[in-house]
Amino acid sequence: MGRARAALSQFRRATKRAFKLPGPTMNMPSLRTACIAAATLVCARSARPQDSAQYPSVLSYRTVRVADGVYAFITPEERSGFQAGNSIVVIGEESVLVFDTGNIPGATRRQIAEIRKLTSRPVRYVVNSHWHPDHNLGNAEYRAAFPGVVVIGTSATRTGILERPPGYFDQIRGYAPTDSLMKVRLSTGRMRDSSPMPDNVRHMWSMITRDYDEFAPEVLKAIPSPPDLVFDDSLTISLGKRVVKIVSPGRGNTEGDAIAVIPDANVVLTGDLVTVPCPFPSTAYFKDWIAALDRLKSLNATSIVPGHGDVQADYHYVDLVRDLLVFTRNEARAAVRDGVPLDTLQRKIDFSPFIMRFAGGDLVRTDAFASFYSTPAVQRAYEEAKFESQGALPKKK
Ligand SMILES: [Zn+2]
Repeated sequence: MGRARAALSQFRRATKRAFKLPGPTMNMPSLRTACIAAATLVCARSARPQDSAQYPSVLSYRTVRVADGVYAFITPEERSGFQAGNSIVVIGEESVLVFDTGNIPGATRRQIAEIRKLTSRPVRYVVNSHWHPDHNLGNAEYRAAFPGVVVIGTSATRTGILERPPGYFDQIRGYAPTDSLMKVRLSTGRMRDSSPMPDNVRHMWSMITRDYDEFAPEVLKAIPSPPDLVFDDSLTISLGKRVVKIVSPGRGNTEGDAIAVIPDANVVLTGDLVTVPCPFPSTAYFKDWIAALDRLKSLNATSIVPGHGDVQADYHYVDLVRDLLVFTRNEARAAVRDGVPLDTLQRKIDFSPFIMRFAGGDLVRTDAFASFYSTPAVQRAYEEAKFESQGALPKKK
């Protein structure tokens, strides 16, 4: 345990040097690296490292038939911050709608080739669930393949896609020194203080450096392309007889998310309001997010396609996410009410029952929870509670 702790502090120092950027804006690599060793601590006794080669390439995806004429391209589960979101294809009698387009142009092109095999009808509509680049940097590929395609999103999504990608690309480029440092340590098998590298650290760093090598050159080729049709309430799109309803519950995972409902198949596409293996909260509005999940649940869909991770056949996972958000929000509100500082809350909040429910002892999932949820969630929920207590809206992040 002492060794793992040393690895943690060493890595934190390395990370600090590597990242000069402002706080992460989504599940970004900077955030991921800051927390890797937290999982090392958590898992050192409980999970045996597995071979990183067993994890599928971040450039890969699986095609899943969700319902008649509804196919999801499911990307590998988020583990290093270098991943694409899911994309979903809805085929109607006359045209096709695609919900989210990923961030790896080569993968998006492969998906377009698959769509052409599934149907001769054109993709006429692309919907972006939110502005996070892992859901829309593939837009330009659809515009090239299907001239005249209409790209749809909320006004917050359009603004985010206009403003955020340069910072995202900078963060990916800015990860290179950390990547190099990890590779040096991996090649020697030693940590900075010359102690042998713990197995958990070796496992995670092997996977992260591999993901970064594959991901960075691809994603840096992407050309952002914002929606040209903007809505903020709801839209009904006819693909022939088949109808897709696009609904914005308002703020949730971002300041303006969109979900899609396919009534004839009883399918809902959630964007990052729901993500597996854990929620990604760093730009979220907890109160509104919880309300958005209630709205999702009221749809009584039989297939729930999350923004990341596998298709859900019931609402158990959505309930779990909701429980976690409510817990985090309540803890943050109580801390603000009692004058507990943020850093104290960060230290004291106990997510361990949730980590067990989300990760079940799996090393990579546990690390994902620590990296993508714990720290940003507490910060975000605390900030929101503070603004609420002052009678103001949470600030945009
Ligand atoms: Zn995402």
